Amino acid sequence: MPTIQPSPLTAVSPRCLSIVVPCFNEGEGLDTFFARLELILQTLQTYEYEIICIDDGSSDNTLDVLRRHAARNPRILILELSRNFGKEAALTAGIDTARGDAVIPIDADLQHPPELIIDMVRCWENGSDIVLARRASRDTDHFIQRCITQWFYRMHNAISECQIPKDVGDFRLMDKRVVDALKQLPERRRFMKGLFAWVGFKHSEVTFTAKPRRFGKSSFNARRLWILGLEGITSFSTVPLVVWVYIGFTVATAALIYGCWIIIKTLAFGIDVPGYASLLTAILFLGGIQLLGIGILGEYIGRIYSESKQRPLYIIRQRYGGTDQNA
Ligand code: UDP
Ligand code: MG
Repeated sequence: MPTIQPSPLTAVSPRCLSIVVPCFNEGEGLDTFFARLELILQTLQTYEYEIICIDDGSSDNTLDVLRRHAARNPRILILELSRNFGKEAALTAGIDTARGDAVIPIDADLQHPPELIIDMVRCWENGSDIVLARRASRDTDHFIQRCITQWFYRMHNAISECQIPKDVGDFRLMDKRVVDALKQLPERRRFMKGLFAWVGFKHSEVTFTAKPRRFGKSSFNARRLWILGLEGITSFSTVPLVVWVYIGFTVATAALIYGCWIIIKTLAFGIDVPGYASLLTAILFLGGIQLLGIGILGEYIGRIYSESKQRPLYIIRQRYGGTDQNA
């Protein structure tokens, strides 16, 4: 991949950056977040900016804090969702609303350093359609989390139609062209990392070190990560469906060979009555494999079911702040 060096900012007619911030119970840290983010955006003097914050059904004071900031700065727009729809939907709501020439999704918990936006903008000016922010290390993750993440990327990329870059999350800069392409993807069940990768485009990278969360706690527990992982694999691969042909073929061949062996043995040495244990093991083993296969079929059928319902991805309860064009 070409590495595009950041260059000094060039003077261009004011273009607009849209910063998209999904927020779920982030009330405690938002003051610090805005202070750091706005400082950086003000240094990018040749750019207009808008900050789109999505309150994803928070149960703390997130909405109040966001509204206080929106009253102070008209460039802050708030989308209050009618309930918690999850990060992927919140991001989609923000991206759908963004009007900028480039869109930058960023977490509200300051694990994504806003200072990196300057380097991202420079790479964008040098011709990249997408500038990815890659985590230099995963030291803030537990050992087990690191192993599972590694395994997930490896497995996903081995069997999927598009490759997700490793250690790259939703923090990135996307040109308007990329955003327009993303908006054309109609799926209801959205694995954003995969969708970002699927649209393609010319990309470059900047690196950063994710700090541990200073405020609040992560909303992604083991169960939510498992669901996200399944979502990622079933969104972009049909290998888990097709693999049963091969498993079935292998097991059937083994059974045939074993059957032949029993016939030969019976002809040579007569009937051998024992065999209860091996019979039971074979039945249970095959039963397990069949259930697994049915479960995987169910996962895909579930996806077809939720896509066919055509429900909206999110519902906006109310918008606050922003300029007149946003309202
Ligand atoms: N988030 C959200 N909806 C959710 C869960 C999370 O909008 O249902 C937001 C959250 O406020 C944060 C970002 O998504 O800005 C990343 O969440 P978190 O820090 O919990 O995830 P982690 O960094 O641990 O992967
Ligand atoms: Mg976080």
